[in-house]
Amino acid sequence: MYTDYQKHLEKIIDEIKESGLYKSERIIISPQGAEIELNTGRKVLNFCANNYLGLSNNPELIKAAKRALDDHGYGMSSVRFICGTSDLHKELEEKISRFFMTEDTILYASCFDANAGVFEPLLTEEDAIISDALNHASIIDGVRLCKAKRYIYANADMDELEEQLKLAQSQRFRLIVTDGVFSMDGNVAPFRRIAELADLYNAMIMVDESHSAGVVGETGRGVTEFFGMPGRAEIITGTLGKAFGGALGGFTTGKKEIIELLRQRSRPYLFSNSIPPLVAAAGIEMIGMMTRNNELQDKLHRNSEYFISRISNLGFDIRPTRSAICAIMLYDAKLSQEFAAKLLEEGIYVIGFSYPVVPRGEARIRVQLSAAHEREHLDAAVSAFEKTGRETGVLK
Ligand SMILES: *Cc1c(COP(=O)(O)O)cnc(C)c1O
Repeated sequence: MYTDYQKHLEKIIDEIKESGLYKSERIIISPQGAEIELNTGRKVLNFCANNYLGLSNNPELIKAAKRALDDHGYGMSSVRFICGTSDLHKELEEKISRFFMTEDTILYASCFDANAGVFEPLLTEEDAIISDALNHASIIDGVRLCKAKRYIYANADMDELEEQLKLAQSQRFRLIVTDGVFSMDGNVAPFRRIAELADLYNAMIMVDESHSAGVVGETGRGVTEFFGMPGRAEIITGTLGKAFGGALGGFTTGKKEIIELLRQRSRPYLFSNSIPPLVAAAGIEMIGMMTRNNELQDKLHRNSEYFISRISNLGFDIRPTRSAICAIMLYDAKLSQEFAAKLLEEGIYVIGFSYPVVPRGEARIRVQLSAAHEREHLDAAVSAFEKTGRETGVLK
């Protein structure tokens, strides 16, 4: 039996390779940071991590995690409702609620789980989910697990959202779902208009702040802060795996009845192990750090503005962005692979994205800025982009 199946799999894998979509992994032997060491012995500057606040290797977080290892042990060996809830989980949930000015929070092993487990317990076939077409894969999967009627609108297209809301009026409850920042362009969801339309058409709002928490808004509280509307979304999901430390973990925060029902019914919460206490302890320290002062957020904002303005002054075509993501458009899939390879030669690690991750003909290099970057890192990246831009004829 397996030999036939093996041939079948080999054929699929060959097809992936032939279409240029095969993903291979580079091996890093240093901690995550602005400068990383690869197993080839090369040291490169990293511009493709979600390490927005530079916390992946932060000494204070490491200290907090080590302390928790000593006084809370390694693992919980249980889901939350059996014997997997530690005081650190409760404290982190409280801290996240306070940070986002929401009522309550529930932790998950990842934001993928948070999104997979948020819709099905809350909505039924009588209800409607109105979802941005570019929402994260985990939102799409979560929506699939739920019986609510689906309505899709083109990315950030508020006329289409309004159309879909009109169509959804016969449903009992309506939930608009959007990423806070879209990862391929770095654009911020037009939350103010979404909120107006939600009021007009009697809908609730869910924002996934995975790429926006810690990044967008003056103090990094995400799109609700960016638009001056704290607490306006009924549901926020987010990850501890990006700006918030970079290890793992996810959360849903929002109205208390919603969180209470999720604790009773959300399947990834009920049937999957609780996060290690050391991750919760580092999370508590992380929120403390972000609220004691605004140094990391300020530095990230300065770095993003500096890099983006220098790259666009060179004449590169970049997507409008209000986040720490800068998409440098090359439009050609092969060119974007070549461009990224040349940049790596120059010691700059970035990734070229092409179809199907982005629409056909919209290939690009995505740069992610971090508070871990120093001015000389940014200057080195800009120089490498300029050199490669001229060599490839992208810059005239
Ligand atoms: C990264 C990401 C996730 C997944 O987060 P994990 O905690 O890594 O599972 C979910 N939603 C969005 C929008 C993301 O960018």
